[in-house]
Amino acid sequence: MLSVIIPAYNEEAMVPVAAETIDEILARENIPHELLFVDDGSKDATWAKIEAAAEARACVRGIHFSRNFGKESAVSAGLAYAKGDCCAVIDCDLQHPPEKLVEMYRLWESGYEIVEGVKHSRGEESAAHALAARTFYRLISSAAGFDMSRASDFKLLDRSAVNALLNMREKNTFFRALSSWIGFKSTQVEFDVQERAAGESKWSFRSLVRYAIKNVASFTCAPMYFVLALGIVMFAVMVVFGTVSLVQKLSGVAVEGFTTVILLLLFIGSIIMISLGIIGYYLSIIFDEIKARPKYIVSAECGRGMEE
Ligand code: UDP
Ligand code: MG
Repeated sequence: MLSVIIPAYNEEAMVPVAAETIDEILARENIPHELLFVDDGSKDATWAKIEAAAEARACVRGIHFSRNFGKESAVSAGLAYAKGDCCAVIDCDLQHPPEKLVEMYRLWESGYEIVEGVKHSRGEESAAHALAARTFYRLISSAAGFDMSRASDFKLLDRSAVNALLNMREKNTFFRALSSWIGFKSTQVEFDVQERAAGESKWSFRSLVRYAIKNVASFTCAPMYFVLALGIVMFAVMVVFGTVSLVQKLSGVAVEGFTTVILLLLFIGSIIMISLGIIGYYLSIIFDEIKARPKYIVSAECGRGMEE
């Protein structure tokens, strides 16, 4: 059976459409399936729509978070609750074309354990957004060691890959990268990002920047190495400057300039504070992980077979 995991946050308009479209496409192809909606603490009627869909269709199940925990948590919960032999993750807004699920499923049948959806085109975006996304993906690609520039959350995973992900104890997960990190026999399917039919994107520019920094930091220590490298460079500069000023001092022509001292002080001060900030950021990540709070809290469930 194929479990389709559908994270939904304030998607009241899209839930019925998604349930109908995906169910019909998979039924037409005779693919046994369940649709697992994860309501990420929506503030609108999303949960009611999911319950209604579960009434109307035997294949629909739903879980409801006690508050908004973010898409990563929704995906984790979906993977934990899914019962299928393989699981697919798809956006509720149908920006990931559901027809591709069939192609992905066929590839899984032919023996692939991970089928990744890669973006052929990124859809409508502002220039600033595209630039920010490019920078982020360049960083994370070099950190992760594989190209992520076209990666998306649209994927199909075999049970063994799902279990590998579920066994990870880290809380700050980045599904898109972790699903490549675990390895397994994988292949790709290209898709075009569709227009959003209803509702609006949940991402503001600020939340994207925060998300990007968090994911870079949780995947790589490169910023700390950067601090170390900077320290070494500063030390080399110090040796040169120090020798020059000493020689000048001994030969009677001391370096002139209060300005130099002020500039140096300010420069070194800011470098030290930035470095402390970077280290502090990593500390905060460690703090979050060590508290070991759950990634999400499920407050309600619906659909047949939920009680087992
Ligand atoms: N989503 C979620 N929790 C959130 C934000 C988004 O579950 O806190 C879901 C949302 O309902 C959608 C998917 O994640 O199914 C992608 O969100 P969105 O379309 O807003 O992102 P974009 O397509 O603009 O990247
Ligand atoms: Mg979207």
